[in-house]
Amino acid sequence: MNFCEIPYKRPNLDEYELTFVELLDKFDSAKNFDLQNEYFKKIYEHRDDFMTMYCLASIRYSIDTTNETYKVENSFFNKVVPVFENLINKFYHSLEKASYKSELINVHGEHIFNLASYKLKSFGDEIIVEKQEENELVAGYMKFLASLRIEINDDQYNITGASKFRVSPDRKLRKKASDAMQDQFAKNQKYLDNTYDSLVKLRHKEALKLGFETFVDMSYVSLRRIDYNPKMVASFREHVVKYIVPLAQKSIEKQKQRLGYQDLKTYDLGCHFLDGNPSPQGDADFIISQAKKMYEELSPETNYFINFLIDKGLMDLVNKKGKQGGGYATGLDKYKYPFIFSNFNGTSYDVKVLAHEAGHAFQKYLCYDKEISEYRRPPSETAEIHSMTMEFFTLPYMKYFFGDQTDKFKFSKVTQSISAIPYICAVDHFQHIVYENPNLSPDERANAWKELEAIYLPGSCNYDHEYLQGGRFWQKQMHIYKLPFYYIDYALAQMCAFQFWIKYQNDRGTTWSDYMNLCKAGGTLPFLEVIKIANLDSPFEGGCVKNVAQELEKYLDNIDDGKF
Ligand code: ZN
Repeated sequence: MNFCEIPYKRPNLDEYELTFVELLDKFDSAKNFDLQNEYFKKIYEHRDDFMTMYCLASIRYSIDTTNETYKVENSFFNKVVPVFENLINKFYHSLEKASYKSELINVHGEHIFNLASYKLKSFGDEIIVEKQEENELVAGYMKFLASLRIEINDDQYNITGASKFRVSPDRKLRKKASDAMQDQFAKNQKYLDNTYDSLVKLRHKEALKLGFETFVDMSYVSLRRIDYNPKMVASFREHVVKYIVPLAQKSIEKQKQRLGYQDLKTYDLGCHFLDGNPSPQGDADFIISQAKKMYEELSPETNYFINFLIDKGLMDLVNKKGKQGGGYATGLDKYKYPFIFSNFNGTSYDVKVLAHEAGHAFQKYLCYDKEISEYRRPPSETAEIHSMTMEFFTLPYMKYFFGDQTDKFKFSKVTQSISAIPYICAVDHFQHIVYENPNLSPDERANAWKELEAIYLPGSCNYDHEYLQGGRFWQKQMHIYKLPFYYIDYALAQMCAFQFWIKYQNDRGTTWSDYMNLCKAGGTLPFLEVIKIANLDSPFEGGCVKNVAQELEKYLDNIDDGKF
């Protein structure tokens, strides 16, 4: 069936809940293991029914936000998701006290039981009021970001629109756009300070109510970090400071040379080459046809996969009127269909987003044989390995998109991926300080950020705007307000993607099969166990960051960037 022929039907919530509770009763009271296992599977099928219609409505709404039917359906789901989550919590409670638990573990693995217990530990009725307040503050912040209008050369832009000037080869324009952006944030500094202050205090209160010492401990549980802890993350950050920060600094020095500036400002960092950043040699249709060719050649599995997506209409890639912004990969679990959504606009972003989201979609596609939906959807430090690695595995095919600018593209891709890691670590370290010391004042938090900039981002924080000099760069980082502690996942995944890429250059066959094994394992195991399956070193182990940094340095030293 083609995506457009899939019938949509809104679940009847009363009936849905009733069936769920009935299945749960039968699961709880099952008189033997076979029966309990049968209801276990039925509950997952019932969960998939709901999620499939939810995803179908949200995909169709995001493709055309002016479609009244799906607009209504999408807001229906947004309203009823808490009811659905509450049902899942009930299911998790039943799992904890299941009469045939050890037999279920034998068949389905222990991991689902650990996930359930982590979820239950980090949520409870006693924090519902705080959670609601927290959600309102976050919604307000997101609305604030979306409503910002930044005036540049008599035109008004939203944040996404204005960010395109970051990579402009016109230095004056870059500065103007950056100043206009900082002005808007500076004007709202009080609001941003106070909102964050309230969020920190609320989250700390939630943690105490649930019996945690700090919100840090609570977050590691709610993010299902089963086999690593804040101490291990702190030591990872130390290795980044020791081995990746000098590499990032070296890149900045080279960039300064290429651009010929005495003084490289923060607003210059997005512009890698004097004549501008590389862009694809054709329009969106060209990019799609080249991407098809690329995935056909990359491996037999991606060949089958890309043609499956095309045949079933499972991609909506090109920017059009009424379409939601951004890019994502999701799936219709009941049909075993992944789906890729993006907004191609003819820039190098298109190539990146397609490689990235195809990585996520490929993993989903390979995991549809799993009955347990949590096993199909790994947490993000694992999931981002699938997508970030795909960005690197497709590098040998970039000539299809960038022609004679391919070397430039690859060079800037590698340097950008390196430079992102120290910033991610600074954001992570900042949040640890903030939530371990919930009574810091907004100015004390800003000072803490300034100290972290000196450690993680030497050479990148050359600001000439007062707002940034005051230590408030982080207020633009949505994750800090909306998704606490989530951000480090990108750095952990990037370290794994780098390992894959380094091996891939020496032994494509073995590395590809390691990657396939990682994707197929999905979310069946905790992070450190799942990367072991793929023969990757743990980013927390002493030598890992060091080895990766050395290989990257070798690669970059072999490129004469003076010719770009
Ligand atoms: Zn991703």
